[in-house]
Amino acid sequence: MKIGRGCMNAVGRLRLTYRKARKGGMPSVLVRCGDCANRFVISYEPENPDPITDQFVEIAGVVATISEWRKLFRWVFAGGEHP
Ligand SMILES: [Zn+2]
Repeated sequence: MKIGRGCMNAVGRLRLTYRKARKGGMPSVLVRCGDCANRFVISYEPENPDPITDQFVEIAGVVATISEWRKLFRWVFAGGEHP
């Protein structure tokens, strides 16, 4: 079974590598497929400097606020229908 460009051979197991922030950068998590070479990186701000301002998270090269990502993933995990 294929989903997008991914594969289903790994029964959903993720391989995660946590990286501390490098100088001037953000901490990140390398997310790898449990079965093949597919991978992407999530980078995030370690703490919220201002509780009113939303933190930024970069997923696979796309930067958005946590609120935006949360909205998207809530919709996806709920089995969202195409709008
Ligand atoms: Zn794979």
